[in-house]
Amino acid sequence: MPEIIFSCDVEDPRPDESYPKRYPEIIEGLLTRLEVLDIKGTFFFVGKVAKADPELVKKTAALGHEIGFHSMYHKPLTTQSTTEFEEETRAGKQLLEDISATQVVGYRAPIFSLTRQSLWAVDILKELGFEYSSSVLPAGSPLFGLPGAPFTPFRWHNGLLELPAPLASIGGAKIPYLGGVYFRYLPNRLIRFFLGKTPQNQCLWTYCHPHDFDTKQPFYRMKETALWISWLLWLNRKRTFSKYEDLLKTSPAISFAPPFSEQLHSGKFDLIPCLPVTSFT
Ligand SMILES: [Zn+2]
Repeated sequence: MPEIIFSCDVEDPRPDESYPKRYPEIIEGLLTRLEVLDIKGTFFFVGKVAKADPELVKKTAALGHEIGFHSMYHKPLTTQSTTEFEEETRAGKQLLEDISATQVVGYRAPIFSLTRQSLWAVDILKELGFEYSSSVLPAGSPLFGLPGAPFTPFRWHNGLLELPAPLASIGGAKIPYLGGVYFRYLPNRLIRFFLGKTPQNQCLWTYCHPHDFDTKQPFYRMKETALWISWLLWLNRKRTFSKYEDLLKTSPAISFAPPFSEQLHSGKFDLIPCLPVTSFT
C-alpha cells in the first residue's frame, strides 16, 4: 500500500474581517495532532495569512514541516495579469523565506487554477526559483482543470516539476478523492479501495485547509457561490482528522511520507522528462 504526502493549504476563508479569525487555533491544533502521529508535511501559506500571523509560519517550520507558497491573496491565476502574478509571487516567496528562515521551493495555485488559460505562470514560477508546483487537476472540472495533463509527476519544458492531484473515477467523473471536501465526505473504505488501485508511479498527496477541521466556524455564504455549495463546504467536518488517524491505524501499510521537497531531492519524482506547455494549447 502507498505512501501519502500530507499537505495543508493555510488560507483564511472568512468573507471579510468582521468575522472571528479561526485558522490560527485550528492550525495550532493540527500541528499538535501531527506531532503525536509523527507526520511531517508541507504547509502552503497564503501570503496575506503569513503576514498577519508570522508566528504560525515560524512554528510550522520549527516543527519540521516544509513551507510552501499558496499565492498572496488566494486569487485564481486565471484572474491575474502576468505582471500582478509575478510581483505578488516574488514578494510572497520572499516574505515566507524571511519569516520561516527556510528556502521556499514549492508552489500551489489557488483552487487548481493552473489551466490552459494560465500556463504563462509556469515560466514565472521557474524564474522566481520554485522547484515544483502542485497546481494541476489533470481532468475537466466545473471550476478549474487541465484535461490532457499526465496523472503522474512530470516536468514542464523549463524543468519545473509538476505534481498533479491524484484522481479517482466515480461514475465517469474524475475527482481528487484524497483532499478537501472529497476526503471529508467519502468513507475511508472507499478511499482505501482507490488507493489500492492507484498505479505505482502516481504521487499521492492529500490536501486540507483549516476550515476542513473547524467545527466551530459560523455558517456563512461563500462569495460568488451557490448556497448549496456553501452548505456542503460547511457541513461534515467533525471527523476530518480522525479519518487520517483511522487510515494509519486500520491500514498500517499506508504511511505518510516526508514533505514534497525532501522527496524531490531524493529524485523520486523525476518520471516524465519534459512537457511543453504547447501540448495544451
Ligand atoms: Zn486554497
